[in-house]
Amino acid sequence: MKELSEVLKDWEAVIGLEIHTELTTLETKMFCGCKLSHDDAPNTHVCPVCLGMPGALPVPNRRAIESIVKAGLATNCEIQKHSMFYRKHYFYPDMAKNFQTTQGPVAFCMHGRLDLEVSGRGAAERPECAFGENEAKSLASASANAVGLSRQMAEGLPEGVEVSAAALGGMGSYDTAGLAVPERRADGSYSVPIRILRIHMEEDAAKMVHVGGAEGRIGGAAESLVDYNRCGTPLIELVTEPDLRTPEEARLFMEKLRRIFLTIGISDCSMEKGSMRCDGNVSLRRREETGLGTKTELKNLNSFKALHDGLAYEICRQAEVLESGGTIYQETRHWEPSRKRTVVMRVKETADDYRLFPDPDLEPFDLSDGFIEHCRAELPELPDAKRDRIERAFGVKRPDAEQLAGDPVTAAFFEEAAAGLSGKAAQTVANLVVNELAAYLKASGVALGESGIAPAQVASLAKLLASDAISSNQAHEVFEAMAASGDDPEKIVDERGMRQVSDAGALQPIVDEVLAACADQAQQYRDGNQKVIGFLVGQCMKASRGKGNPKLFNELLRSSLS
Ligand SMILES: [Zn+2]
Repeated sequence: MKELSEVLKDWEAVIGLEIHTELTTLETKMFCGCKLSHDDAPNTHVCPVCLGMPGALPVPNRRAIESIVKAGLATNCEIQKHSMFYRKHYFYPDMAKNFQTTQGPVAFCMHGRLDLEVSGRGAAERPECAFGENEAKSLASASANAVGLSRQMAEGLPEGVEVSAAALGGMGSYDTAGLAVPERRADGSYSVPIRILRIHMEEDAAKMVHVGGAEGRIGGAAESLVDYNRCGTPLIELVTEPDLRTPEEARLFMEKLRRIFLTIGISDCSMEKGSMRCDGNVSLRRREETGLGTKTELKNLNSFKALHDGLAYEICRQAEVLESGGTIYQETRHWEPSRKRTVVMRVKETADDYRLFPDPDLEPFDLSDGFIEHCRAELPELPDAKRDRIERAFGVKRPDAEQLAGDPVTAAFFEEAAAGLSGKAAQTVANLVVNELAAYLKASGVALGESGIAPAQVASLAKLLASDAISSNQAHEVFEAMAASGDDPEKIVDERGMRQVSDAGALQPIVDEVLAACADQAQQYRDGNQKVIGFLVGQCMKASRGKGNPKLFNELLRSSLS
């Protein structure tokens, strides 16, 4: 198979995501008073409603509606005052009532948008031909093709309901109105808007455990057990428009959404435990084409790495099939991380198979302005706003500000450590938090709150660095010692005699000594070999027992040799 970078030169990948998030911070289920709990004995939190007993009547959970409205406001969606619940019918033991209660064409939240900042190595995944004029032409013609089709697909839905093609399976073309053409900046980074089609409310199914089969799958299992504790858990599903073009953009979208949901406190967003899960839709088209190809749906993308690698594999697989004259079938495929491949699970059902109709047991919603404003008032500062504020108030570089703002605990830690600072001093604090602190927490597996490291310690270390009292290599050593002992960096530096010497008068004799001892290298430098300066700085550092300021040694050596 070809490499992703080769494939994306010839083919455009059209990616959409469906992201399910369990509202784990709520007390009770979506339509009954059963406690939300995953850890208790099986089938201990069940009642006639979530078991689908005849005559049992559902009552919507008000706090779940608040949560989804907050999710919509935080992702720039239009909140729909009028929407209703539908029944989506299917016959399987994980839903005792034989239908899932979900939303119809109108969801609580419609037409949102998140802007992605793509930088670093991942930004290179988007090939040069997907920027500027080419991309603008491609978007314009795709948009012209889009209309008619969504009309056609919306037939059979309740009157007055407009749904885009993407909502109904993503076949044909799609409306690109509101999409901006990304421009690549000098450092390779770019930003790109990703539209959100909708966020709707639904309920989770029961958990099934297949016993005796391979890898817990149903194939070959001797028996299957059902735990209805999870059945009826409030779940929100976010569907993006197919605006993502690279696996990296998909990964970043998921990360960004997770940060937002964590910030507004509607879920623990654990991909490991499955409280946040993601399916990816992907199709390919030739660079100059405007219609959409046949898509496949990927399951089991249950980590950021799996999301990226699964999509990357599937893009390369589809390219290989298409280039050898084969056909892509609309099917659901399972990502197998251990074998690094996707395999067919089933051919996709169409919307017709579910016999979707409004639930007669649940009244349509008529959300008041007051209710929506109450939800808005409860929103904390969101990651994007926080990033912009940190960038402005502290003069920290944007990518660092983005990383700091991504986690509320980290952001609060930084703001305390950098209080009253700006410019170089604040950037030094940011560097320590983003690099040293993050690496330490990752290696030790400890959360920031439990690490025992105080903002004041990092501030004091930053002060030593910013004033050139210690080098960045020494800062690493001091950080490790500080994390281990809890001592203040000033004390560690003094005790270890680490204070860096930045006095030219004190360093010049060492430079003279080294140049006398290394006459050959000195001559090589004078003859034009610039690289040898690194060796000479190293000798000076050795002679000063690591205490000399390497930058100053470099300057002194150059002027002595000129
Ligand atoms: Zn119940």
